[in-house]
Amino acid sequence: MKIFKFGGASVKDAQSIRNVVEIIRKHAPEPALVVISALGKTTNRLEALASAFFENRADTQALFEAVRDDHRAILKELIPEDYAAYAEPTEALFSRLERYLQQEPSDNFDFEYDQIVSFGELFSTRMVSAYLEKVHFPHEWMDARRLVRTDNHYREGEVDWVKTERNIQKHLQERYPNGLDRLLLTQGFIAGTPEKFSITLGREGSDYSAAIFAHALQAESVTIWKDVDGLLNADPKVFPNAVKLEQIPYREAIELAYYGASVIHPKTIKPLQNKNIPLYVKSFLHPEESGSVIHSFKEYRILPCYIRKTNQVLLSIFSKDFSFIAEENLSTIFALFALFNVKINVMQNSAISFSVCVDAKDTLPQLIEELQTEFVVRYNENVELLSIRHYAADSLAPYVKGRKVMMEQRSRSMLQVVLK
Ligand code: ASP
Ligand code: MG
Repeated sequence: MKIFKFGGASVKDAQSIRNVVEIIRKHAPEPALVVISALGKTTNRLEALASAFFENRADTQALFEAVRDDHRAILKELIPEDYAAYAEPTEALFSRLERYLQQEPSDNFDFEYDQIVSFGELFSTRMVSAYLEKVHFPHEWMDARRLVRTDNHYREGEVDWVKTERNIQKHLQERYPNGLDRLLLTQGFIAGTPEKFSITLGREGSDYSAAIFAHALQAESVTIWKDVDGLLNADPKVFPNAVKLEQIPYREAIELAYYGASVIHPKTIKPLQNKNIPLYVKSFLHPEESGSVIHSFKEYRILPCYIRKTNQVLLSIFSKDFSFIAEENLSTIFALFALFNVKINVMQNSAISFSVCVDAKDTLPQLIEELQTEFVVRYNENVELLSIRHYAADSLAPYVKGRKVMMEQRSRSMLQVVLK
């Protein structure tokens, strides 16, 4: 079985939804499983709605209506006649969210966030399902919350692989004892807790969902359909000489995703690698093009890969009394980073200082405050981190010309610089 994943940009309006259905028709001749994200930037809008609701703000209803009306307009464009006959499941979701927003929020923001934000994927898949029905495309709409099981670490659900695989396999065996005879359509990004509440897997988590289904079903391949032609060795907006990587070994793909190449969610690779399932990255704008493939193979032609992260903060942490920053201090420092969930992108130490480059996250000010009780902390905001994997002697010079290098670190395969 093939697994296809379509992200927000591929379902942002009626025309793109029609295009998605065309791609499924042409590129998945056998019954496949399709994972879909929320429409366009819906998740961001639902995040804003969740905050308004949690803060009991007066604009809650207006934010809800704007999201609902935009979805409705797209569905009406897809189904201009007989709207009522096909739109009922989607309309029921609008009502359910509206009722939810009329209740009092609990005091757990992350919980409320997931209950609200998960509607994005429910809306999008119900809308695609309505359109498939309208064009007589046999399919089943599956609720990922009943299949993908996590713990209850809201906003970052940890997958329970044993239960998840059992649920998915059982669902297919029971429903299709004679083999699958239709398309399966489900949501990315969302899952269910043991208490049967909605939960999300972390932003941009739909790629990961596709990998979870693929792993459970021992799929033949996963294809992520994106608005780029495949995986490039650099962001073409910044690096005009960027080239497409035709094929990438799993190991390289994990490294690139980890250092912030924003093409695939970093958790996606492991479940696929473990079962040797290839991952294709293809363009939904040019579906006939070959795209890129991540799989296992030997002769990798090594090219430098550039990964740029902006909006970084460079923190330097010094001992107050000139004592060494050694194991004991470091373990205090690391514990605080873990506590505030701030991921270190690069680090370096000297006798009495420890420097790290991190994403500018909302928990960072609290972390700094906490660090300041024991250390002197200096920081530079709005710096950039450039990581070059498989760098060559001349890889760096063109990009740092005229800029201030605040930190530099090299290993055999990686060069990282923090730039002002
Ligand atoms: N809709 C979710 C997000 O925007 C999940 C995804 O797109 O992968 O983060
Ligand atoms: Mg998205």
